[in-house]
Amino acid sequence: MAKVMKTGHSADERAAKHLYHFIDGERISGESNRFGDVFNPATGGVSAHAPYASAHEVRRAIASAKAAFPAWSATPAAQRARILFRFRDLVEAHSGELAEIVSREHGKTLDDARGSVQRGAEIVEFACGIPQLLKGEINENVANEVDSYNIRQPLGVCAGITPFNFPAMVPMWMFPIAIACGNTFVLKPSERDPSCGLRLAELAIEAGLPKGVLNVVIGDKEAVDALLEDPDVAAVSFVGSTPVAEYVYNTASANGKRVQALGGAKNHLVVMPDADMNQTVDALMGSAYGSAGERCMAISVAVAVGDETADELVSRLKPRVESLKIGAYDQEGVEMGPLVTGAHRDKVRGYVDVGVEEGAELVVDGRNEAVPDHEQGFFLGGCLFDKVKPDMRIYKEEIFGPVLSVVRAKDYEEALQLVNDHEYGNGAAIFTRDGDAARNFTSRVQIGMVGVNVPIPVPTAYYSFGGWKRSLFGDHHMHGPEGVRFFTRQKTITSRWPSGIREGADFSIPRTR
Ligand code: NAD
Repeated sequence: MAKVMKTGHSADERAAKHLYHFIDGERISGESNRFGDVFNPATGGVSAHAPYASAHEVRRAIASAKAAFPAWSATPAAQRARILFRFRDLVEAHSGELAEIVSREHGKTLDDARGSVQRGAEIVEFACGIPQLLKGEINENVANEVDSYNIRQPLGVCAGITPFNFPAMVPMWMFPIAIACGNTFVLKPSERDPSCGLRLAELAIEAGLPKGVLNVVIGDKEAVDALLEDPDVAAVSFVGSTPVAEYVYNTASANGKRVQALGGAKNHLVVMPDADMNQTVDALMGSAYGSAGERCMAISVAVAVGDETADELVSRLKPRVESLKIGAYDQEGVEMGPLVTGAHRDKVRGYVDVGVEEGAELVVDGRNEAVPDHEQGFFLGGCLFDKVKPDMRIYKEEIFGPVLSVVRAKDYEEALQLVNDHEYGNGAAIFTRDGDAARNFTSRVQIGMVGVNVPIPVPTAYYSFGGWKRSLFGDHHMHGPEGVRFFTRQKTITSRWPSGIREGADFSIPRTR
């Protein structure tokens, strides 16, 4: 493949920037004296130093959001929408720049990063319809001359805590809807790739968002805990790994907050004997190895129904995985970039070692992948396991890297049982030409987002995103109608005007008469 650009380790370090928080519409240097490195995963060099917020700095962001809330929540929804329209246009105009920021800190290919910016912008488009989305319900004359109606009102200051793998899209799952509903917001993006969150907040200010409505603090557990414990935070929206999601859900709920906490995944793709093999193999390549497997909707398990199906699947996948084009994000034709950090790459590689020790058959071993001129980059080749068993760690645990496990099931019922028995319930897909099998699967599978001949069934902006089982703690899915419900609370008003008031006290329960 073409030679990759030479951007050495030390060149990155010389250019490493000092990042900042974004509070009350201003860039604020960190005061805590705690910093973390942000890497360019393709070179392994440090591209930025990120300040980690202290509880005091987080408190400052919350205070700014709290002060902005009365005016912002009283702003007519159509005016809020007008700002979001401008924000949407700015995201579109800056999509190349935003994608570059995502790729430089995350490592994914530019095309993939551009796609993720677009998926985020689609949520902003959805949020632009907020006047319509906030429409209530009314019943005239629920009793004689008594009317009843529902309205939805914002909650106050909301917090968003996001993972490293979608630094543009996942923050945009949250804050556009939250602020469209009239809330103010504090975003705590992943400290591993925080620049995109900061840039989005600056663009929102450029679009006309009043200062304080959207704040960004960079940080680690200390910043998260400050958000979870602060009495002025009304709701917490979280996306990340399952142990942290569970912790966030328990802690924030115990502090009286509304919480939605989306966690990890182990997504299965069931391959029926009648599936179109070309389509299935293409689907598996993109969904298992795209973004180096660092997607919560990545397929990490292919369940082949019958040995014949499994043999054909593995023999077709093997040469494709071996010839994956791996390189830096800005290199022409690259299909898969590096992992986000050296530590994460080593963890994923460790899982491959575990799989071998557990007795799974390693059909393609990408552990020693090296990209010319990028020897320090966090690259790992695509790995493919066959004959993986349900009691193995590589099956049970989320690996979050370019590792696909093939599990062999004797029939459809066994395949379905596997999916349903797994602790995670984010996404699953079935590949088949049989409508009966597809319908049976969509009806009986214990999973939040299901694909039929679609490997990554990520709901569009006007549907909602969320898993079942230990992939989601809380009741509301993210964005779409559920997003509006999460970021508002319902009030029911029952009114009788003086002309309808009858004389005399009534000591029994109000009823229709
Ligand atoms: P992570 O859980 O390590 O971090 C997520 C956020 O939590 C970050 O902002 C981080 O700073 C914070 N955090 C980390 N450890 C913490 C702790 N001990 N206490 C408090 N806060 C803490 O997740 P990640 O590695 O950034 O992202 C990958 C994970 O996110 C994967 O498990 C993936 O499946 C999941 N994910 C899920 C979805 C979904 O929609 N379900 C979407 C994207 C990613």
